[in-house]
Amino acid sequence: MNSAWVRRLNAVRLMQALRRRPGSSQRELAALTGLDKATVSAVTAQLVQAGLVERSAAATGAPRLGRPAVALRIPQSAGMVFGIRLEPDRVALVAADLGGMVLARDAEPGAAGPEAMMQALRRGAERLEARLAPLPLRAVGIGVPALIDRAGRLIFAPNLGWRDVPLAAHVAAIFAAPVAIENDSKAAAIAERAFGSCAGVDDFIYVSGHSGVGGAIFAGGALYRGGDGLAGEIGHVKVMQGGRACACGGRGCLEAYASEPALVATLAARGRAAAGLGEAAALAQAGDAVVLELLAETGRLAGRALAPLVNALNPSRLVFGGSLAAVTPWMLPALRAELAEAALEELAGALLIAASPLGTDAVPMGGVALALQRLDAELLEAPARIARRAGP
Ligand SMILES: [Zn+2]
Repeated sequence: MNSAWVRRLNAVRLMQALRRRPGSSQRELAALTGLDKATVSAVTAQLVQAGLVERSAAATGAPRLGRPAVALRIPQSAGMVFGIRLEPDRVALVAADLGGMVLARDAEPGAAGPEAMMQALRRGAERLEARLAPLPLRAVGIGVPALIDRAGRLIFAPNLGWRDVPLAAHVAAIFAAPVAIENDSKAAAIAERAFGSCAGVDDFIYVSGHSGVGGAIFAGGALYRGGDGLAGEIGHVKVMQGGRACACGGRGCLEAYASEPALVATLAARGRAAAGLGEAAALAQAGDAVVLELLAETGRLAGRALAPLVNALNPSRLVFGGSLAAVTPWMLPALRAELAEAALEELAGALLIAASPLGTDAVPMGGVALALQRLDAELLEAPARIARRAGP
């Protein structure tokens, strides 16, 4: 292995450790990364010189005998990343520092066509950059409700009505920084592992329900992307033979029953008016039998879609996110019953099932996590470029 590359890899490990534990001393960083103290000291000196790490006198821990430990952190002056969610009705933006701490949020109304959507994105991004000037923008991560291939090409976005859009090229024309584009549910799952309930969980399945139903699979500590980058389309697992028409062109998909618009429409047809799943959750909380029955049906259908995945992948957790998280507690008994029937007891019995704590921030925070990954990759490939851009 090339020694310059190893040095860069060590720099990335140190940055990642400082994101997990800001204010660590060099000794603590050595313990966190498994690197020896001399290496930590040398790499820290390089990162300090590049403006990516700063030393401050007071360590967070108790004072030790002799010289007080110096606390290290990623300074705000090192720059910022943007995490972005594109949706038909809204462009949501989150700015975070290179430690992953949120600095500011903004939003723009969405738009129908790709060109108008890119203009909305540009307006939101320019406003946020101006607000946080002179912090340099280092990287951008974007979550989109679409099939996105490994090259960042949008293949199909049923809820946006887009097909075959060179999204990476469009977005590259807006930002001077590198951009990572990902399916919104995959971005949300990445956020769940970086900032949510799945820190340290290597194997989990994430199901998000909002305008559609999406999914993502973490296997062995990595997002499973599949051959073309399209894995995780749990919303289009068929749960009802010859059932309702779905936006994908198929019939009987989970999404046709469990997306927010589908659930709201079913409730309306059964005489219950709810503007969204937040209101449905309030009705369920109040014991409304019609709502409770529909959420039990939804739990059974979700269990039908997920049981084969539980058998095939042996996840240790199932996480429900998006607006579906609001009603997950009332889906659980039927979901568990369906899993008990359709999956092996040894795999389904120990499974933890939970609602995501990230709320509407999940996708933009996934964008932040993607942007930080992109930045780490760049640090590994081109440290000189990062160092030159360090500091405002
Ligand atoms: Zn479908």
